[in-house]
Amino acid sequence: MGSAYEVDFLAGVETDVIDLDGRVVLPGFVDAHTHMESTGQYVVHADLSAADSVDDAVETLREDAPDDREWLQGFGWDESDWPEGRYLRKGDLDRVSDERPVVAYRVDMHTATLNSVGLDRLREALPEDDVEFEDGDPTGVVVEDAVGVVREAVGDDVAETRDLVTAARDRALELGVTCVHEKVRDSYAPRVYRELDRAGELDLRVRIDYWSDHLDAVLETGLRTNYGGGLVDVGGIKSFTDGSFGGRTAKVTEPYAGADPADRDDDGRGQWVVDPDDFSELVERVDDAGLQMVTHAIGDEAVDLVVECYAATDDPGAARHRIEHVELFDDEHAERMADAGMVASCQPNFLQWAGEGGLYDQRLGETRRRRSNRYRDLLDAGVPLAFGSDSMPLGPLAGVHHAVHAPDERQRLTVTEALRAYTLGGAYAGFDEDRLGTVEEGKRADLVVLERSPWEDDHEIRDIDVAATVVDGDVVYDTLDGTNT
Ligand SMILES: [Zn+2]
Repeated sequence: MGSAYEVDFLAGVETDVIDLDGRVVLPGFVDAHTHMESTGQYVVHADLSAADSVDDAVETLREDAPDDREWLQGFGWDESDWPEGRYLRKGDLDRVSDERPVVAYRVDMHTATLNSVGLDRLREALPEDDVEFEDGDPTGVVVEDAVGVVREAVGDDVAETRDLVTAARDRALELGVTCVHEKVRDSYAPRVYRELDRAGELDLRVRIDYWSDHLDAVLETGLRTNYGGGLVDVGGIKSFTDGSFGGRTAKVTEPYAGADPADRDDDGRGQWVVDPDDFSELVERVDDAGLQMVTHAIGDEAVDLVVECYAATDDPGAARHRIEHVELFDDEHAERMADAGMVASCQPNFLQWAGEGGLYDQRLGETRRRRSNRYRDLLDAGVPLAFGSDSMPLGPLAGVHHAVHAPDERQRLTVTEALRAYTLGGAYAGFDEDRLGTVEEGKRADLVVLERSPWEDDHEIRDIDVAATVVDGDVVYDTLDGTNT
């Protein structure tokens, strides 16, 4: 950066010169919401995200689930486009194995299906409210806390965590992601990131948001938001309020489409995952401790709760308290977020479910589907906007593509706006805007080189290949073959 005349003096024995031959250089992508172990699980275990039917998912599990672990595991099924239009069930997974435990997690990770062996093994430990029954028989489908019980039972040790994290790291670098804001709970990942960093093998910036379960430990060990300054940083405290649209557990003010209020104890309007009073106390405690708050809120009633609790803190803008997802909200929420400086951390890849007949349509109906994920309205209101993937899956250019081609104009961004949310927007959410997020003098050299310009033919954005990724001045991924180096 700077004048070509000055830069020319740098060419010499200590400088590598790489001719990019007209390719496009952008700031490295900041993915503001990741679960890297989950990304790694797709690489290491059976990836069910491309399965287009129940049979296809069963077949993929049979073929791709590695045999050297106790449980056979698959990740990422999504029934919303399947001809059967239903969840995977116990009987489907019994076709994968009737001797070994099998689990297949839905794409949102709030729902999972067990086979009969898996279900029998965990039956005692599963909270009954989160186990689905039909005619008195469990269907194999479990949600929310029961999914947590399954994950704990399957269990990852340090070596497995390292396998998952390094597989995810490699995937991130291939996609041009140079920094992730990583949400962790009861995991060896923070230890593994620091071990990799110490060994000089991390090659990726990781900002760790610790689950609220760890708040006492964070305070006892004296961790502070933004402590770090190298590759590994301390982020904030992550909490939930509601669930997801997929599981009909996001908290909405109007009932779900086709909901029969008599069916459930929640009036068909979703459920709190964290009790609102407990959440309110948590925000106060986190804010008083000088830590950043990072809260999952999807439905409009959940967004309302978070805005209310954040607004009650001293200076939510200075603390950069964040709302993750913000999928359904009112204009008033956007205004209050903008006025107070609360950060919206959104996932434009979710727009893939916002088309006609898609998941948002099925769960919320036409009007609310079109009002979901309104990035245009957030930006116009002046809300700081950060983009991420929620590891569903990683892919900044896919996210940019969806934001640029969103079904409704209230959701749609220009190429530049979408790229900015995926670079500088994420940097801002992590207090890193003076160090990351743009290509300019004085900032760290986190860069991505694209084979083609996303501005030239915007219909192809998601198909553009990454030619190289640079983190902190080191080329950590490239397909340049050395021919023009
Ligand atoms: Zn998440």
